[in-house]
Amino acid sequence: MVLLKALDGCYGDGPDAIAVDGVTLSREQLLGAAGAVASRISGAPALAVLARPSVETVIATVGGLLAGVPVVPVPPDAGPKEREHILRDSGAPLLAVAAADRAVEAYGARVLTVDPAERGDAPAEPADGAAFVLYTSGTTGAPKGVVLGRGAVAAGLDALAEAWAWTPEDTLVHGLPLFHVHGLILGVLGPLRTGGRLVHTGRPTPQAYAEAGGSLYFGVPTVWSRVAGDEPSAKALAGARLLVSGSAPLPVTVFERLRALSGHAPVERYGMTETLITLSTRADGERRPGSVGLPLAGVRTRLVAEDGGPVPYDGETLGELQVRGPMLSDGYLGRPDADAESRTADGWFRTGDVAVIGPDGFHRIVGRASVDLIKSGGFRIGAGEVEAALRDHPAVADAAVVGAPDPDLGQVVVAYVIPDGPVTGEQLTAFVAERLSVHKRPRRVVLVEELPRNAMGKVLKAKLG
Ligand code: ATP
Ligand code: MG
Repeated sequence: MVLLKALDGCYGDGPDAIAVDGVTLSREQLLGAAGAVASRISGAPALAVLARPSVETVIATVGGLLAGVPVVPVPPDAGPKEREHILRDSGAPLLAVAAADRAVEAYGARVLTVDPAERGDAPAEPADGAAFVLYTSGTTGAPKGVVLGRGAVAAGLDALAEAWAWTPEDTLVHGLPLFHVHGLILGVLGPLRTGGRLVHTGRPTPQAYAEAGGSLYFGVPTVWSRVAGDEPSAKALAGARLLVSGSAPLPVTVFERLRALSGHAPVERYGMTETLITLSTRADGERRPGSVGLPLAGVRTRLVAEDGGPVPYDGETLGELQVRGPMLSDGYLGRPDADAESRTADGWFRTGDVAVIGPDGFHRIVGRASVDLIKSGGFRIGAGEVEAALRDHPAVADAAVVGAPDPDLGQVVVAYVIPDGPVTGEQLTAFVAERLSVHKRPRRVVLVEELPRNAMGKVLKAKLG
């Protein structure tokens, strides 16, 4: 299976087919520079890439894929501990960097400098094998290396292209980090498979999105929240074709504001490193706020109760989301324990996420079983529902809800709130109690200036409380 099927210009070319942070490459230039990388790494067991938003990152990634060497993106802003963990855990003997990073600490790996002007003959892309070892975001623990096969990546991208009608006519715009599924696999390999153009804005600011003039836009909820809060930029996106949100829950308030200003209801997508691209609302279907839509082509899902039994698809009953399909990973690198834990005996992948499915098949992600499902006095409370109720208050900019241990009830609801005006904890508790069942109201409200987040804008709930 050729993954980069639109790399060689067969869908047309241009001097700026690929633009990253203002630096442009044609497909031919990319192929030549990646060919030079491929010839230098041939036979290596893995290639780590210091994944700054740069053309060098794109070149090194494509070079690894052409050479059949699994690519291991390393977050550039990660602390030394995380960087060392990824380099050592993956066993990559080489670290590709841009010239400016030549002196980077590589923890025993050999540093390989990528030169965008260099040209080499690109080898024929291998048909199978691992394409990436991608580390999870580390939202709930230390990042785990996930081995992604070429076929899985291709299957995920093709299913998305179908759902979003993504074609060579599209110009994709985003400014996401290039070391996760969202920014790198969807955001860089996507255009190299569909044939469309790529404009990576360097940073995902509302102004950069507004100026890029693309047709297809990717963002995580924090990016869309900033765009929705910047009226001229949001209005400037009226000329786009599709705005897509993924990686974390998109608050309904942000969905509605974006729709009102840009004229586009955002399409939502759900996936994880281990399952790549799994669910999405469709470009030609209903884009329902608060829902991630339906399984993509080839994907099957099911909900399983805590006791292993079935869950009714009534849009209310919670269950663990399990998935199967051609986009699943080959497992965790060197972690047979985590592999065994994550697969059921009958071959389904346990996402660890809690979801509900409606009678019409629409999926709603409630959150992570480990942190977003609060068990209080015999009730099961989804943190997201309480967060959404809090965000409806005019003096709340954002909120994160966690379960805190309680000797009597097991857990109680605790809310961390960024205020957007004068408000007290008592007022917010009363506000939630009016909207939701009484057991869902926060027992404690902590007003904060900021919520701890990782590079994907996901709230690090382990740091709260
Ligand atoms: P770690 O596994 O290291 O704790 P992580 O799970 O955040 O980190 P990723 O694989 O990047 O790492 O993220 C996948 C998770 O992100 C999913 O399991 C889910 O909890 C969340 N997620 C992704 N997309 C959505 C979405 N559209 N709505 C709600 N949650 C989402
Ligand atoms: Mg995870």
